[in-house]
Amino acid sequence: LYITIEGLDGSGKTTQLEKLAEWLRDAGHTVVATREPGGTELGQLVRDIVLHHRGDIAPRAEALLFAADRAHHIATKVRPALERGEVVIQDRYIDSSVAFQGAGRVLDPAEVRRLSEWATEGLYPTLTVLLDLDPALARERIDAAQKVFDRIEAEAAEFSRRIRAAYLEFAAAQPERWLVLDATLSADELAAAIRSRVAALLTT
Ligand code: C5P
Ligand code: MG
Repeated sequence: LYITIEGLDGSGKTTQLEKLAEWLRDAGHTVVATREPGGTELGQLVRDIVLHHRGDIAPRAEALLFAADRAHHIATKVRPALERGEVVIQDRYIDSSVAFQGAGRVLDPAEVRRLSEWATEGLYPTLTVLLDLDPALARERIDAAQKVFDRIEAEAAEFSRRIRAAYLEFAAAQPERWLVLDATLSADELAAAIRSRVAALLTT
């Protein structure tokens, strides 16, 4: 079973990923909890470039860097785990690229999607959880955490608004793959909603 979690920075993806992984492990599943960018050693290097390079990165170069991280991650970590019958829960995937590099930047979303589909040989998750959050609230949460902004978090508010809208469009187009949740709910309420959808997938 392959599950991905999407949302703006500050939407609570990491918390939910950890809670879901713990619940699945307690139920006896072998879980690989991972993320993009940075789910492999090579990916860590790519993550460092895309988040901390000083100066601009040309949009197509940025898209290719994320795609390179993804290709390596899927080939060396995710597919092998799925083939062993393990559950993979992943913070960000293809939908992040289509939203951030496609809708967020100036690239054609369909081309960005094709790039990722090439990189992954067309692997899609069974379930994608969207933690939907107003960009202004997301920004408040990041501020409250007193985190230093990375290169992408430093983008203007309009960038986040386009990304949120793109995510909601993807979810509306493929409701069977997506679970859209209001990220202002408490962490426990969100975790319960995710568990009930995942439980249904595990029994089918
Ligand atoms: O979610 P995480 O903080 O790990 O993501 C790292 C940064 O990269 C975030 O600022 C996120 O918005 C950005 N990102 C992106 N395109 C992707 C994946 C992540 O712009 N495909
Ligand atoms: Mg982040």
